[in-house]
Amino acid sequence: MLIKNGNVLTFENDDVAIKKLDIRINQNIIENISESIEAEDNEKVIDAKNKIVMPGLINTHAHIAMSIFRGTFEGCDLYTWLNEKIWPIEANLTPDDIYNASMVSILEMISTGTTCVNDHYFFSNKIREAFEKSKMRAVITRVLMDSDGKEASNIRIKEFIELYESRNKNNNLITYTVSPHGLYTCSSEILQISKELAIKYNLPIHTHFLESISEIENIKKLHGDSASNVIKKYFDGLKIILAHGVKINDEDIRILKNLDCSISHNPISNLRLGCKIADITKYLNEGLNVSLGTDGQGSGNNLDMFETMKIAGLIQGGIHENENRIGSKDVIKMATINGAKALGLEKEIGSIEKGKKADIIIVNMEEKLDNIKMMPNLNVISNLVYNTEGRCVDTTIINGEILMEDRKIKNINVEEAIKNCKRIIKC
Ligand SMILES: [Zn+2]
Repeated sequence: MLIKNGNVLTFENDDVAIKKLDIRINQNIIENISESIEAEDNEKVIDAKNKIVMPGLINTHAHIAMSIFRGTFEGCDLYTWLNEKIWPIEANLTPDDIYNASMVSILEMISTGTTCVNDHYFFSNKIREAFEKSKMRAVITRVLMDSDGKEASNIRIKEFIELYESRNKNNNLITYTVSPHGLYTCSSEILQISKELAIKYNLPIHTHFLESISEIENIKKLHGDSASNVIKKYFDGLKIILAHGVKINDEDIRILKNLDCSISHNPISNLRLGCKIADITKYLNEGLNVSLGTDGQGSGNNLDMFETMKIAGLIQGGIHENENRIGSKDVIKMATINGAKALGLEKEIGSIEKGKKADIIIVNMEEKLDNIKMMPNLNVISNLVYNTEGRCVDTTIINGEILMEDRKIKNINVEEAIKNCKRIIKC
C-alpha cells in the first residue's frame, strides 16, 4: 500500500515536524518513507493531498466497557462515584454486556484516530474477543483488588491467569499488563502477588495512582507509607504505568524518576470528578515520561484523544502563569511516542519510521467548510492539537490494515453495534 502526497508528521531529534513524504507499507510494516515513491502495478494507493498523515494516537488509560456510563452520575466525587454508583452496576454486568459495550468504544476509537489503547477492566476475555474482531491494537488485563475480601480477590487472580494463559501467541496486536486497581483498594498481599505475576510473565504494571486527595491518607493508613514509596517497594525493576498522578509532590517525583515509570495523564476525567489538575509541565521538566489517557466514558465523557490533547494543552495555563508551559508539540508527543514508551512498545509504534508497524491515521485538513476553524492553516501542529476533532480523521490504519477509509468502517457493523449496546441500559 502507498500513501502519497501527504503532509507527514515526523519526530526529528526532539522536534516535531511536518514534511511532504510518501509512505510505502508492506504487510504490517512501514517499508519506505521518501519524498517520492512511484506506485507499483496493482498497488493500493491512498491520496493524502491536503491531509495530515500521522502516527495513530495511543490512549494509555481507559476502561472501554464503560461506554454505557457515558453522561451519567454527574457531580460525584471519586469515592461516591465508584462505591455508590459504578461498582454496584458493574457487579450485574454479563460477559455479553461487556462485549457489546466494548464494541461501541472500539468504534469510537477507530473513528477518532486511536490505534492502541491500554485497558483496565474485567470479563477481559470478552474485551479481547471484541478487539480480535475489530483488529485494533490493545493492551488488556483483568483488574486485581481485594478491598472487598479475599474470596473475590482469588477469583480475580484466577481470571487474570486464565486470560493470560489462554492468549493467542500468534496475535501480536494484543499484549497484557498486570493491574492492581489502586493502592487504596489493594493490600500488601495483592501488590506482592501482582509483582510476582508481572515478573513471571514479564509484563508491565498498570494501576490508578494519586488521583484524588483522600487517597493520600487512605494509602498511608493501609500501607504505612507514601504512595510512591509503596510503588517503589513492590514494583522497582518493573515497567510501571501510573494512571492520573494528580497529587504527585516533589518527593514523589524524586522517587518515581528513578523507576521505569510513566504517568498517564487523564485531564478530562480529573476535571469531571473534581480532582483538580495534574502539574504535567513540572513532571515533564523533571524528566518523567507523561502520556495521555481518556479514562472510561463515565468520567472522561468520550474516547476522542483529540479532545483530550486540546484540554491537556489548555489546562496547564490554569496552573502556570508563565511562558514555560507545555506547547502543542509536547502534547502531540504525549499522545503518540510517549504513549508507546509508557507501554514498552516504542520500538514498534508511536511514530512513522521505517521498520515500525504501520499504525497510521490520516487527518483531513482540506480547505472546505467542515475545516473552516483550521483556516487559514498557518500552523498544522497547533491546529492538530487545538482545532481538530476525532471526526476529522478520515482513514485509520492499524498493523498495516485499513480499518476505516473515508470514514467508512470496514470490519464492524456500526448500526448493529450501537443497537446491541443500547440494549444493556443498566443505569
Ligand atoms: Zn481509571
